[in-house]
Amino acid sequence: PPDVEALGRASWTLLHSITAAYPEKPTLAEQSSAMSFVKSFGKLYPCTWCGEDFQKYMEREKVRVGSRDEFGRWMCEAHNDVNVKLGKKTFDCDKWEERWRTGWKN
Ligand code: FAD
Repeated sequence: PPDVEALGRASWTLLHSITAAYPEKPTLAEQSSAMSFVKSFGKLYPCTWCGEDFQKYMEREKVRVGSRDEFGRWMCEAHNDVNVKLGKKTFDCDKWEERWRTGWKN
């Protein structure tokens, strides 16, 4: 069975990095690819119950892929839903881009 924690960290890195590289003004084809990607991701994720919960989340909270900011925030909120489920601290989604695209400024 997969190491759920290591798989999770690697997967969130990939998912947030994809939203960070997503266009500010995606074409309809890019929006459609993003939508298919996250839906397939939920179906194929190697931690089965994680993927099932992710699919349920997508039924409750429609995936938003209209722009980089929409997609990035949607992913941040999806990650927070898992954080809450696991009793972890939630992340301030105003900072998603600073964390995953532009880098922290100190
Ligand atoms: P992670 O939660 O992996 O986060 C990695 C880094 O992302 C953090 O250090 C922080 O810098 C940043 N971050 C944290 N929150 C956010 C946010 N909201 N937005 C942007 N950046 C953020 N594990 C289970 O045990 N049960 C499950 O049901 C489960 N479901 C999962 C579903 C999915 C789709 C994925 C990808 C993972 C799931 N996991 C699940 C794994 C779990 O979410 C964590 O990845 C794992 O517990 C390791 O946690 P971590 O504390 O190292 O940080």
